[in-house]
Amino acid sequence: MNLLLIEDEIKTADYLQQGFREAGFVVSVAHNGLDGLHLGLEGQHDVVILDVMLPLMDGWQVLRQWRGQGRAMPVLLLSARDQVEDRVKGLEWGADDYLVKPFSFAELLARVRTLLRRGRALPAAAEPTVWRVADLELDLLRRRVLRAGRRIDLTAKEFALLELLMRREGEVLPRSLIASQVWDMNFDSDTNVIDVAVRRLRAKVDEGFEVRLIQTVRGMGYVLEVPEPSSASGDAV
Ligand code: CA
Repeated sequence: MNLLLIEDEIKTADYLQQGFREAGFVVSVAHNGLDGLHLGLEGQHDVVILDVMLPLMDGWQVLRQWRGQGRAMPVLLLSARDQVEDRVKGLEWGADDYLVKPFSFAELLARVRTLLRRGRALPAAAEPTVWRVADLELDLLRRRVLRAGRRIDLTAKEFALLELLMRREGEVLPRSLIASQVWDMNFDSDTNVIDVAVRRLRAKVDEGFEVRLIQTVRGMGYVLEVPEPSSASGDAV
């Protein structure tokens, strides 16, 4: 898989380049928008990671030029700015995904793989930006969580944890997977960190509601789903 990375922060670019190489990608790198624009026009890339704030030409212009010239490769925008307007603008201008710095490499890699799986045949809107389970709603663009229409305030980590659980609704997620996806680390010895975080999240999301969505599967991990009536006694400790 050929990946084009356009990022002017050398340390970040080196780190990402190494990570993607280890994950089996062939990586081309540009450190400014103009070089990136030309690499994108001339080369054949399966996926592009494009920083927004770049010298010589910013990510918006690069993206617009590509789309204007019929280049349809999937593009994931990276931005330090956590503005709804930026996200909306990026997606309207033809970006396929959007990630705000700082992010974990595990999440970036997962999203790049999703873009590749999705392929070019599918429309860019294939990936939902709002996830719903029962009366719980998570809006990726607005970074907002609602339960029964009421807003729930979450920390960035809690939001990432809930996003992971909702994206994989009904799937039991082991603590090690949660650790690598949300914390970008291995917690082989100290899964307590995960347990504490889940407990906090559950207090915010489930407390006071009849239906408990976040469930512990003893010895396995955690799952978010609407419990079946027959097993309503499930483990909610
Ligand atoms: Ca930058």
